[in-house]
Amino acid sequence: MELRLYDTLTRDKRPFTPLDPANVRMYVCGPTVYDFAHIGNARPVIVFDVLFRLLRHLYGEAHVKYVRNITDVDDKINDRAARDYPGLPLNEAIRKVTEQTERQFHDDVDALGCLRPTVEPRATEHIGEMRSIIEKLVAGGFAYVEQDHVLFSPSAMNAANGVLPRYGSLANRSLDEMIAGARVDVAPYKRDATDFVLWKPSKPGEPSWPSPAGIATPGRPGWHIECSAMSWKHLGETFDIHGGGIDLVFPHHENEVAQSCCAFHTSRMAQTWMHNGFLQVEGEKMSKSLGNFLTIADQRDHWGPSVLRLNMLKTHYRQPIDWTQSSLTETTRELNRWFSFLEANSDGDVRESEEIVTALADDLNTSAAITALRALFKVKNAAALNAGLSILGVPIGREYLQGRKTDHLFAEVLVTGSPESGRPTLSTGLASSKVQQLIEARTAARANKDWKESDRIRDELAAMGVVLKDGKDADGKPVTTWEIAR
Ligand code: AMP
Ligand code: ZN
Repeated sequence: MELRLYDTLTRDKRPFTPLDPANVRMYVCGPTVYDFAHIGNARPVIVFDVLFRLLRHLYGEAHVKYVRNITDVDDKINDRAARDYPGLPLNEAIRKVTEQTERQFHDDVDALGCLRPTVEPRATEHIGEMRSIIEKLVAGGFAYVEQDHVLFSPSAMNAANGVLPRYGSLANRSLDEMIAGARVDVAPYKRDATDFVLWKPSKPGEPSWPSPAGIATPGRPGWHIECSAMSWKHLGETFDIHGGGIDLVFPHHENEVAQSCCAFHTSRMAQTWMHNGFLQVEGEKMSKSLGNFLTIADQRDHWGPSVLRLNMLKTHYRQPIDWTQSSLTETTRELNRWFSFLEANSDGDVRESEEIVTALADDLNTSAAITALRALFKVKNAAALNAGLSILGVPIGREYLQGRKTDHLFAEVLVTGSPESGRPTLSTGLASSKVQQLIEARTAARANKDWKESDRIRDELAAMGVVLKDGKDADGKPVTTWEIAR
């Protein structure tokens, strides 16, 4: 089956050809961990989870690497930490804020049926890679030091000959226009209005690291450099797919391209750039001041995870989506009918749902996939409907149509224990699939020799009362089973 994807850079839909089909590589910008994620933040997580599932289906689970970062260094985090924990030293307060927010984020997106990415790198653990890219950029004449800052110069990039792309090509803007349209009050350390920060000095008490490029004052990274560093570390100098919300095209992704291509002398950072459209609520931009700011946590409590996920996928990912009570109510009704039908018709061979895969292979056309699900329901094909919902990642069962049920379910499994064999089965529902996802992420971390991440996941499971046992299967391949701590 041919997969076709729309590329923001070339503005066309093309057949997708991985650089290496044995190692398909995707990077998606993840959350800045300082507050509850809102339902708009859930959109890229769900959309790229569907793509991750599709790629695994097409190329094999072991041949797809999905990296989604966690931004744990940012002014917004510092501000929140100082506000919420005024009595604590700033660094300690920051750790509390980032750990709590990260836990909540995982809880939310796990509940929405999203698989964990293969690697979830944290920015603060990649400062060394950031420094090394900055050194390359300064040495190459693309960046300069001024007043303890390091600045990237888009003009220097566009003046260079060779393979480099033109600055502005992703966002389809011309540098001359950007310079002409720039504000007058440009920071004193910038030579050009369009220059952007790679590194800046830290104020006393703020998180800080030794600076690159011979700067004596300790400092911290700018916003864009972290994704160049983490994608480089985990996916290499160039990779297949880079994704995020449409708001990230400029300046964030334009600047990532500039940093990575100039540091590594490449013409492309990613082969395909994918961006999801924005979500608005009842026809209005979501904002705290308008009082229509919907967190994933609240929406989960209200509608249940399956409704949120299917409702999100009814609109094609590149279109804007209007999040309304009426469409959520309609989605609830539809899923109720489907799940009741599936409950009554649980027999039958599970077969691949070809119609759904074909729809998804056309630039992730989830709305066409859902139309195909309706047709399957109409002809009473339970096995294919079940398979189709599964590839879309929709948790199946009427218990997922109600709020708060997932936590309750999870608690139930913890109390009653896993099956005799110590292995989870599908019948234990979301709870075991959550454990299974964590085990898969840990297996992937171990395969990458990322012992720190593997230990972290073991600890996370231990905190839930789940104990892991590493062993070997009949073929001598490593397997991990689990049981409830006694
Ligand atoms: P942020 O935490 O604002 O950096 O956003 C994290 C991710 O959510 C990014 O990929 C954003 O593009 C995306 N995002 C933020 N707000 C919305 C929204 N209203 N609709 C769709 N995506 C969004
Ligand atoms: Zn990013």
